[in-house]
Amino acid sequence: MEYAEDDFLWVSGIQHFVFCRRQWALIQNEAQWQDNELTLAGQALHQKADQPELKESRGNKLIVRAMPIHSRELGLVGICDVVEMIKDPAGTTLHGHVGKYRPVPVEYKHGQPKADLSDKLQLLAEAWCLEEMLGIKIASGELYYLKTKRREHVVFDEPLRDRLKEACNEMHQLWQRRYVPRVKVNARCNRCSLKDICLPEMLKRESVATYLKRMLAE
Ligand code: SF4
Repeated sequence: MEYAEDDFLWVSGIQHFVFCRRQWALIQNEAQWQDNELTLAGQALHQKADQPELKESRGNKLIVRAMPIHSRELGLVGICDVVEMIKDPAGTTLHGHVGKYRPVPVEYKHGQPKADLSDKLQLLAEAWCLEEMLGIKIASGELYYLKTKRREHVVFDEPLRDRLKEACNEMHQLWQRRYVPRVKVNARCNRCSLKDICLPEMLKRESVATYLKRMLAE
C-alpha cells in the first residue's frame, strides 16, 4: 500500500508520537503547538543544520544539508538535517557527481541520548525515505547530541524497522479519524511543551462519556 501525498505526515512528528501519542495528536490533528525552552533550543540547533541547498565536499564525503525527503510506503515527508554521501563502489550514483555514494543520514539533537526510541525511529524514518528515493538499502545512521558533543551510531535492524512501521500505522489511523487519544499522566508531562493546552490534571478525571455510562448502569 502507498499513501497519497495529502495524507503524508511529518517525519519530525515521530519523536512527539513516541514521547506521547496525545502530544503528537494535539500537534498533528488539532494544530496545537507551544514552545518551551527545550523546543526553542532544538529549533535553534536545527536552523544551523538547515541551510537549504548547501553541499560541500570533504575528502571522500559529499555533505548535503536540509535535504527534502519523503516515503510513500510510510506516508511521511520531512527534511533531513544532514546526509553524508560517502564514496563507496557498493553505493548509488548521484546526479552531477562522478562515482558511487553510500548515503548516511545524520540527525542533530539538542540534548543527550534518550532512554526511549524516539530519536532512533526518527533517524530510521529519514533513512527509509532516502532508501525509497535513492533505491538503496541504508544499514545505519548517526545521531549527534549537542550536550555530549558526541555521535551515536544507530544500526537499522529488523526489530527497529518493525517498530517504525507500527508507529506509522498507528499515526495514520489516528490522523484518519482526527482523534486525540487519552493517555496516562506521568512524569513526562512535567517537561511537555503542551501541558497548558493538554491540561493533564483533567485527564486524571473521569471522562463525560464514562461518567454517563456509569450513571446509566447504576
Ligand atoms: S501533558 Fe502529558 S499527557 Fe498531555 S500531551 Fe503532554 S505528555 Fe502527553
